[in-house]
Amino acid sequence: MAEAGKGGADGKRVWTAEEIAADFERRTAGLKQVEAEVLGCPRCRLAQTRTHAVPGEGNFRSVVLFVGEGPGAEEDRQGRPFVGRSGQFLAENLQRIGLRRADVFITNVVKCRPPENRDPEPDEIAACADYLTRQIALINPRIIVTLGRVSMSRFFPGASITKVHGQYKNIGGGRVALAMFHPAAALRNPAWKEMFEQDIEQLPRLIERAHKANEAVLRGEALPAGVPHPGDVDYSEGKPAAPPSAAASAPTDAASEASAKPNRGGQMSLF
Ligand code: SF4
Repeated sequence: MAEAGKGGADGKRVWTAEEIAADFERRTAGLKQVEAEVLGCPRCRLAQTRTHAVPGEGNFRSVVLFVGEGPGAEEDRQGRPFVGRSGQFLAENLQRIGLRRADVFITNVVKCRPPENRDPEPDEIAACADYLTRQIALINPRIIVTLGRVSMSRFFPGASITKVHGQYKNIGGGRVALAMFHPAAALRNPAWKEMFEQDIEQLPRLIERAHKANEAVLRGEALPAGVPHPGDVDYSEGKPAAPPSAAASAPTDAASEASAKPNRGGQMSLF
């Protein structure tokens, strides 16, 4: 039996309860700091026309992070992401696969509304990029779902959304990115709506794998050096997660349940 905090199977390190709690505190504080900076951010021209900046919200202990393009009119008014019709469509689809909106974290590439819902300009995306980078590092999701072309471009550079939607790829750091249409675009195009509904059905399987991998890491069966929160798995080419033991061979009830229920301790309302 491994000594907690010192070594696990095959000499790998086990996470202690104290370390996990400290990690939780660190991530909570980090996300609050990002939120505060976004709410007062003057970095690009969108600051001059926004009503509210929209940092993002949801369960920051989720293995899934949804990244949209930018706030729309209703989001700008409320200061919350995906609260309009497209948000309702997203919530309905999450419910269809056994998730609630509160189970996942939702944010955007740019945190302030582009006027008239135009695409964000490259310099606006560049000015805002650091916030998303920090959110990803702090949330440490296994799965990043890109919603729409702008978000997709960050993780699938040069790709076409009509070609890569429904595909996921290993983006390093123990993460995959899954490309999907933006809910608003799906609502405008019946064919894309159908594809959106099909593409999101990949998530339960990816989430189950993510939970199994995280549990294996927490048991000390894998601990990549320099990763401050459990995270390292090979998702390449759709192969099953392969922690270095038989631990990932079968789903556990806890894993299945964890993928279906939010961890309320990680819930964070960021507005
Ligand atoms: S879009 Fe991003 S960079 Fe621009 S003002 Fe808003 S928070 Fe700042």
